[in-house]
Amino acid sequence: MPGNRQPRVRCGNEPRPAPAMEPAGRGAWAHSRAALGRLENLLRCSRCANILKEPVCLGGCEHIFCSDCVSDCLGTRCPVCHTPAWIQDVKINRQLDNMIQLCSKLRNLIHDSKLSGRHTFC
Ligand SMILES: [Zn+2]
Ligand SMILES: [Zn+2]
Repeated sequence: MPGNRQPRVRCGNEPRPAPAMEPAGRGAWAHSRAALGRLENLLRCSRCANILKEPVCLGGCEHIFCSDCVSDCLGTRCPVCHTPAWIQDVKINRQLDNMIQLCSKLRNLIHDSKLSGRHTFC
């Protein structure tokens, strides 16, 4: 019977079932929040201690501030460590700014999933 020999072709690169990456309950989100919190601590202004808004540095040291917080310190000195500042014009660190945007998106995400998690226990 010619039509009956159907070779069973096994595809070698068949996708394996992906491991479930779902967060295992509320604990996982607590970890995410803690990690986000640590990240946000790195993105705080050295002067007002809030999350940086339009981050700038003054050139002489590694402190980073909101552009508003150091507009009076440009070309003088760092308000924290008093290193002479050689930056004369505010130059916003766009890379850092992007990170801060991402962080706030992440925070919203985590916050949302926390809220929707309540339905599980209804
Ligand atoms: Zn600030
Ligand atoms: Zn400084």
